[in-house]
Amino acid sequence: MTTELPEVVPAAEVTEWSDETDVLVIGFGIAGGSAALEAARAGARVILLERAAEYGGTSAMAGGHFYLGGGTAVQVAVGVEDSAEEMEKYLTTQSIDPDADKIHAYATDSVEHFNWIEALGMEFERSLYTEKAVIQPGTQGLMYTGNEKVWPFINQAKPAPRGHKVPKPGDTGGAKIVLDALNNQIEKTSADVRYETGATNLIVDGDAVVGVRWRKYDESGAIRAKAVVIAAGGYVGNDKMVAEYTPQLGKKLYPLASTYDDGMGLKLGKSVGAEWRFMEQAFITAPFYPPSVLVTGIVVNQDGKRIVAEDSYHARTSAYVMDQPDQAAYLIVDSEHMERQDFRLCPFIDGWETVEEMESDLGIPEGNLVATLTAYNEHAANKEDPDFHKHPDWLEAQDTGPWGAYDLTLGKALYAGFTLGGMRVNLDGQAQREDLSVIPGLYAAGACAVNIVQDGKGYSSGTQLGEGSYFGRRCGRHAAGL
Ligand SMILES: Cc1cc2nc3c(=O)[nH]c(=O)nc-3n(C[C@H](O)[C@H](O)[C@H](O)COP(=O)(O)OP(=O)(O)OC[C@H]3O[C@@H](n4cnc5c(N)ncnc54)[C@H](O)[C@@H]3O)c2cc1C
Repeated sequence: MTTELPEVVPAAEVTEWSDETDVLVIGFGIAGGSAALEAARAGARVILLERAAEYGGTSAMAGGHFYLGGGTAVQVAVGVEDSAEEMEKYLTTQSIDPDADKIHAYATDSVEHFNWIEALGMEFERSLYTEKAVIQPGTQGLMYTGNEKVWPFINQAKPAPRGHKVPKPGDTGGAKIVLDALNNQIEKTSADVRYETGATNLIVDGDAVVGVRWRKYDESGAIRAKAVVIAAGGYVGNDKMVAEYTPQLGKKLYPLASTYDDGMGLKLGKSVGAEWRFMEQAFITAPFYPPSVLVTGIVVNQDGKRIVAEDSYHARTSAYVMDQPDQAAYLIVDSEHMERQDFRLCPFIDGWETVEEMESDLGIPEGNLVATLTAYNEHAANKEDPDFHKHPDWLEAQDTGPWGAYDLTLGKALYAGFTLGGMRVNLDGQAQREDLSVIPGLYAAGACAVNIVQDGKGYSSGTQLGEGSYFGRRCGRHAAGL
């Protein structure tokens, strides 16, 4: 590990404390805001430090999916059947190393958490969007945002749409509505929010975290706290850490993050021994849908072999592309299913009268793409896909020339992403060392902690805001002594 860590300050060396508080939260995004609100509502004295001049962080940029289920008011209103048990089963299939307690709690409390978010002062629209898309284009409240209908998960848990979108048209910034509501509620408490104030070091007494050093321009100081919650975001903005842990995010990628996602929270945690987990994992995506008709095509690598069920959630498909040699892949469709040759995210390469010509121009070994497409078409005609079990809804033969190819290769397609690695924490967000022991006084939540989401293949849109707010709340309550 070459990442430089901030110095740890022994409490005995602090000559003057600027403040004393019960709970000190670092970062006012969805996770830190939720932690601070719950701690303050529980009666704790709370100080919330935010390095930027306003609240929001990456959370305020988000489109606004919250992954919630088990019978939320939106699901009920639009007639979707769901249960905490099915949600739990589904989420368990999506984690590399599922934490049964956390998944159980998240699914079981999901309706309560949905109600908590709405009670902040916003309402999800009671409507369902049924198309396959990355995010609802309008204000529709609900859609499928994961791999629920993808094999083998479709057989492991009863699928239900759980991507609740904040009612703002478009694909960015919707979550700001929730952040504004969260801020309004925090303003009603005694929590003390300090902007343009960054946490720089943790202060320890023995092995316990007892405070934080902060800086605001040329002022600095030390706050004594009974508990410190780090909710300072991920590290996609830190070039050195990206080069070391997630080099795939370093290649011509659009970082989905605020400029403060520089890994400072992770480094603070590590400086006192918190374990980093899944640091090599990332959410990375260049969706080729909508238009959804393109999902009927096939995704092949440079060898002309299919690599994934093409109806997978876009980050899952992209994760499989990342596994290929040179992180190269193509989406192949025939003229019956061709749409959008002006596709900015996944550029259209060309059209060819024959598959043989396409194969040769793409540098695929002779005969491989012809064989792949022939086999796919034969099975698709019977609504079957013995290789990847793509859902019959998307199985259509690609047998009408000319054929076209879109480039999904990293560096050619416009990928965007963020990091998924973070601190090891227990159910209540207490930071843990590698031996699972708890670091007294330290908590972590949101993008700098690892809870349910662990990699791009198992990512469902809305899990970041969902788990950031849910586990942020748990940190806040536990840190307040509840
Ligand atoms: C365009 C876009 C769309 C997205 N859409 C979705 C979506 O629909 N659903 C979903 O679940 N996820 C989505 N995501 C991902 C999601 O937004 C983030 O993973 C999530 O918001 C992280 O929340 P957080 O509270 O952990 O971090 P943040 O919201 O980034 O908050 C961390 C805060 O900590 C502050 N900070 C950092 N260091 C310090 C320090 N040393 N001292 C004090 N403060 C500090 C930062 O300034 C920041 O305000 C999207 C992301 C982007 C960019």
